[in-house]
Amino acid sequence: MIEEKVGFCTLCKSRCGTINVVENGWLKKVVPNPDHPTGKAICLKGRSAPEVVHNSRRLTAPLRRTTPKSDPDPRWMEISWDEALDEIGDRLKDHVARGGPESIAFAVTSGSSSPLSDSTYWIL
Ligand code: SF4
Repeated sequence: MIEEKVGFCTLCKSRCGTINVVENGWLKKVVPNPDHPTGKAICLKGRSAPEVVHNSRRLTAPLRRTTPKSDPDPRWMEISWDEALDEIGDRLKDHVARGGPESIAFAVTSGSSSPLSDSTYWIL
């Protein structure tokens, strides 16, 4: 079954209007949606979204390094999201306890560089 889903590209803050062609649950193609206010054209990154989504090397679960950073082989081990969030939360708490809240900083690069653009205001 082939469906055309109207939406917008989330790969940067431009949010270009798109039509997303989905075949049997797989994103096959992303094309501009000229009916959308920002959909007259999309860039190569937006067009490449199916390759990003379905890339076999895409990380879809957190990984924990199991060797010291000096070891060239990190021997990544997949862990659950709950484990990752607990571990990160514990480390942040530890930093705050030792160095105060100023010891932690969050940053985002250009709004055109990341699909995080919808969360930028939360991060900064
Ligand atoms: S990545 Fe490209 S297509 Fe996607 S929103 Fe940004 S400019 Fe538009």
